[in-house]
Amino acid sequence: MQIPGYIDPVVTPRAITPRLDGRIDLIGLSHLEIRQLFLESQLDEKAAKLRSKQVFHWIYHRGITDFELMTDMAKPMRPWLAQRFVIGRPEVIEAQVSNDGTRKWLLRTDDAQDYEMVFIPDADRGTLCISSQIGCTLNCRFCHTGTMRLVRNLTPGEIVGQVMLARDALGEWPKGNMAAVNADDDEDDEGGHYTADGRMLTNIVLMGMGEPLYNFDNVRDAMKVVMHGDGLALSKRRITLSTSGVVPMMKRASEEIGVNLAVSLHAVTKEIRDEIVPLNRKYGIEELLQACADYPQASNARRITFEYVMLKGKNDSDDDARELVRLIKHYRLPAKVNLIPFNPWPGADYECSTPERIRAFSTLIFSNGISAPVRTPRGRDIMAACGQLKSASEKKSRAELDRLAEEKQAALG
Ligand code: SAH
Ligand code: SF4
Repeated sequence: MQIPGYIDPVVTPRAITPRLDGRIDLIGLSHLEIRQLFLESQLDEKAAKLRSKQVFHWIYHRGITDFELMTDMAKPMRPWLAQRFVIGRPEVIEAQVSNDGTRKWLLRTDDAQDYEMVFIPDADRGTLCISSQIGCTLNCRFCHTGTMRLVRNLTPGEIVGQVMLARDALGEWPKGNMAAVNADDDEDDEGGHYTADGRMLTNIVLMGMGEPLYNFDNVRDAMKVVMHGDGLALSKRRITLSTSGVVPMMKRASEEIGVNLAVSLHAVTKEIRDEIVPLNRKYGIEELLQACADYPQASNARRITFEYVMLKGKNDSDDDARELVRLIKHYRLPAKVNLIPFNPWPGADYECSTPERIRAFSTLIFSNGISAPVRTPRGRDIMAACGQLKSASEKKSRAELDRLAEEKQAALG
């Protein structure tokens, strides 16, 4: 029997999804990559440098998708660009709004794969929850995404495309004249200039479909684009990467991405974590917590979030809470615990702990000086809450299978 978590996932690597019309989609490319493409298209060094800088700024600072609107671009350059390149967006198949204001989009890639993203508005912030893979290879027992059959990595363009689409949908691109672009500044500058400024989208969490550290390169490249100071300029302090515990990649995540870390702990004993997060059989709790202790960005100002899904009778006892406190203290982790009431989905094996149990669990942790808020489930009615994401095409194919099975049964009977 194949035990999920003992094997490394085999996913389809791809940097750019080829387009049928042969043009190249610039979304998700760094400005150095755009410059390289311009050089390959026979612009000279100087022109490639200037034009890539301008195009990058138009794409990410202004949200422009039509080269004709790039008003500081020499007129003949615009059709030249349009013949060779596009500035794309993921195709929207369905957009839903929950009665609590949470929005969910079902998106489709150029090769017709479906994935989802969710926007969660709050009084003081707006969080975009983005996907890193289509499906997930890790099969956590309580997670709907883990039951998806199809897994492929999303490209940097498909990851950045989610942010672009959300800003389109929220109407958040700046208007008016564009400030001059400084053509000399080459550096891959890491943003930080982006503030709430009345904008709805202030934070990004990599907590949608997939395990971001199993798609490391693409997630890193996408986040670099999102953080770049000439474009979206989102600060790394406003981005959180959630991992189920891919220990060997955590050091690289800190060195090459540097965003906030969330870790899906969910259990404090080997027995229970092995069952509900099968990756634990490969990278155990001690190893995982040591990697957290070694995560250099973690500090009291940027604490590591431990996500803990509340499963009735599984991981929700006072002893579990006490052990959680002990572990956090033992590894001296600057930590907060996010208690997530289990979000049900059709066919799930578990139930959510009672509200009283969750409160008691939270209080016990709090009383030991560790913050442990209970996360209010958002968007449950549209299946947009944590762990509920699974693309509609998958659901339809299951429904389709059920229908076919019924028809077969009827024919037989
Ligand atoms: N793969 C990454 C990120 C995506 S999941 C990870 O596992 O961390 C985002 C969070 O939702 C994780 O903590 C995940 O364990 C949690 N989650 C998954 N299924 C859930 C469910 N049914 N109810 C509540 N939380 C769930
Ligand atoms: Fe994958 Fe995260 Fe779901 Fe586990 S919880 S199956 S790692 S998406």
